[in-house]
Amino acid sequence: MSQGKRPLPADIHPRTQAVHSGTRRSQYGEVSEAIFLTQGFVYDSAEQAEARFIETGDDEFIYARYGNPTVRMFEDRIAALEGTEDAFATASGMAAVNGALTALLKAGDHVVSAKALFGSCLYILEEILTRYGVEVTFVDGTDLDQWRAAIRPDTKAVFFESMSNPTLEVIDIRAVSDLAHAVGALVIVDNVFATPVLQRSGDLGADVIVYSATKHIDGQGRCLGGVICGTRQFVRKVAEPYLKHTGGSLSPFNAWVMLKALETMDLRVRAQADSALKVAQALQGLPGLSRVIHPFLTDHPQHDLARAQMDAGGTMIALDVAGGKEAAFKLLNALQIIVISNNLGDAKSIITHPATTTHQRLTPEQRAGLGISDGLLRLSIGLEDAGDLIADLTQALAAAQGPGS
Ligand SMILES: *Cc1c(COP(=O)(O)O)cnc(C)c1O
Repeated sequence: MSQGKRPLPADIHPRTQAVHSGTRRSQYGEVSEAIFLTQGFVYDSAEQAEARFIETGDDEFIYARYGNPTVRMFEDRIAALEGTEDAFATASGMAAVNGALTALLKAGDHVVSAKALFGSCLYILEEILTRYGVEVTFVDGTDLDQWRAAIRPDTKAVFFESMSNPTLEVIDIRAVSDLAHAVGALVIVDNVFATPVLQRSGDLGADVIVYSATKHIDGQGRCLGGVICGTRQFVRKVAEPYLKHTGGSLSPFNAWVMLKALETMDLRVRAQADSALKVAQALQGLPGLSRVIHPFLTDHPQHDLARAQMDAGGTMIALDVAGGKEAAFKLLNALQIIVISNNLGDAKSIITHPATTTHQRLTPEQRAGLGISDGLLRLSIGLEDAGDLIADLTQALAAAQGPGS
């Protein structure tokens, strides 16, 4: 297999990389990438099998848990886009987060993590790593003094999401990376909310960037997937041995969906982010909301940092409905276009009530500490007409303030 006869120029932009990078063509010269839906690979001889188990070449595979041509295309394309040396594709975003952390850490190691995290990420840091003797210190990720105080000479890694779920806090990636690098700690960033399109975390200092490809990379609500991007050393010598032996590899079919979805990701994410800012601005003027959170609104606490760090404010909005859970539920039930679901980054606009769904597991005190009030809703803006979404939210908000339900 080959990229075709002509190699790509070295200086192409991410949008071009997202369409062409990583392509491997079979002897048929297909235009659209093939799905190699195979677990295994046939060897010409016993000697060839023996040789391949000693060292695999670029276009040589052993078993789909170790690697597969379609999965490899997705890995090469996302690595090119992200600007990292390599990438390992995983069965889900959580396999990527767990793989990156568990592959690296051992008993006795120390990790510093922001406390505002996706629920399952919090579970890994709080429940799983600690069970195996890793010490984890949680900090308010927006407070550099807390990072400074928590990072120690023996800190092995720092972990955070920027923006965070669901309250869209923005963390200073450059500043936290500098603090971590000063003690030789690895910086692992979950870049899901910011997307590969709007935030280049690697350029800002992150060493390892993890994604749930389930979100904006697929972007159309079809498949689970994830990816770990980093140096060749980290991806192939640290993450891959752990993942290929523990079963977290991405299926070739899902890899193909993600690979093709990368071609349109830039257009989708930018359009969704444009609409998200429009919707957030429109919501700010409406009665019945005590707070509208979006990083590119001027009243966001890290607004200047968000503008410096990201191309756009992302596709997510958080809104606090005055009147708590009852009013929030009335609003949800009155929506006609936006669907109630807990996914995000989809072509369809999606809304969820974190306190009773994604963050139900937390105690009321923990939720309060993360700014997850009973009236908070997390809204993921899709590809619909922004005016239609504003109209839907406006009528639902009016219904939520009305009598009874
Ligand atoms: C969804 C999500 C994950 C987990 O991804 P899955 O594909 O659902 O396993 C991790 N981090 C963040 C920030 C997410 O939004």
